[in-house]
Amino acid sequence: MPTDPYAWLEHSLATIHRADWYRSVQPINGRPGATVVLAGQEVINFASNDYLGLAGDERLMAAATAAIAEFGTGSTGSRLLSGHRDLHRGLEEAIASTKQTEDALVFSSGYLANLGTITALVGKRDLILSDQYNHSSLKNGAILSGAVFVEYPHCDIAVLKTQLSQQRQNYRRCLILTDTVFSMDGDLCPLPALLAIADEFNCMLLVDEAHATGVLGKTGAGCVEHFGCTGKQLIQVGTLSKALGSLGGYVAGSNALIDFLRNRAPTWIYTTGLSPADTAAALAAIKIVQQEPQRRAQLWQNVHHLKNLLQELPNLKLLASESPILCFQLSSATDALKAGNQLRDAGIFAPAIRPPTVPTSRIRISLMATHKATHIKKLVAVLKDVNYSEFY
Ligand SMILES: *Cc1c(COP(=O)(O)O)cnc(C)c1O
Repeated sequence: MPTDPYAWLEHSLATIHRADWYRSVQPINGRPGATVVLAGQEVINFASNDYLGLAGDERLMAAATAAIAEFGTGSTGSRLLSGHRDLHRGLEEAIASTKQTEDALVFSSGYLANLGTITALVGKRDLILSDQYNHSSLKNGAILSGAVFVEYPHCDIAVLKTQLSQQRQNYRRCLILTDTVFSMDGDLCPLPALLAIADEFNCMLLVDEAHATGVLGKTGAGCVEHFGCTGKQLIQVGTLSKALGSLGGYVAGSNALIDFLRNRAPTWIYTTGLSPADTAAALAAIKIVQQEPQRRAQLWQNVHHLKNLLQELPNLKLLASESPILCFQLSSATDALKAGNQLRDAGIFAPAIRPPTVPTSRIRISLMATHKATHIKKLVAVLKDVNYSEFY
């Protein structure tokens, strides 16, 4: 009989190492931006979710420090007890206005927004249908809810329809879950078709706009706006921590939905309200997204510029993308790690993404509005030199 109940941890870690799945943190010094100092080395940053370059913007920093001066550092309690400030309401109104929904609710993170919303909306008598490539927070929210959880093949509307025809009538409520921009691939969900199918089978539809808010759509409202679906009945979740450069999450939708979540979402009710600094920074970011469309235009110009240059490198297996996220597929986790290290040695920070995050290993590049043409040119030059055998 073994005596150490924790001994399995070392064995499990050894297995993770053997598969080249082991991961560790890397320190970045200074403010976030198009270039950063990573473990002492200056690199061009293609690993950030800060699409509009707002996380290091003076105006967000000023808003955050002003909020600290006025309200202190912590919100001291849950929103329903001592943690609510007018600042929170101001942010929620700004989100609802951007999304053109009746109301919105901010959570402490996008992850918690998904967990709380899904668990509030469905339970044991209900069915969840979820894209197989959805973010971890959607999957874990689905599992935690206790609903019957079925995945459909990535963006496969035909299979989704078959599953609904066969199973919908056996359940009380049905909730369809999807990322709008798939975070590890860069492609978009077929939103109009999903809305039609949700309508046909009397299902709720929750879309995760984490990588779309501030990035897609004429006003930066996201993929819903991009597809001309503004105003449709659906549940929009997102984060304040990507293009908005702060920390926190949100849900936007009808008055009834938001009112219900304030009464039933455990990850909102039983956690401390968003800090004044994070709230104020996110609010400042939303104003900038509205007032400076040229930032978004520059981001998309960078995306098109890189895609054009990549045509010179037909050997790279680029996954289909309609966003600032571009991925090159590699044959194994080991090859992905090698390619990632070669890029980094050449001054390019573009990490290897490996299982279990994704089914197949890849190098993931995310573009920012603040990347210069010289940064993109250098990326392509380095990609040209990387040992091609590493890539597919
Ligand atoms: C990043 C991300 C989240 C989590 O948001 P946080 O605010 O970082 O917790 C949720 N969903 C998707 C699709 C994401 O990419």
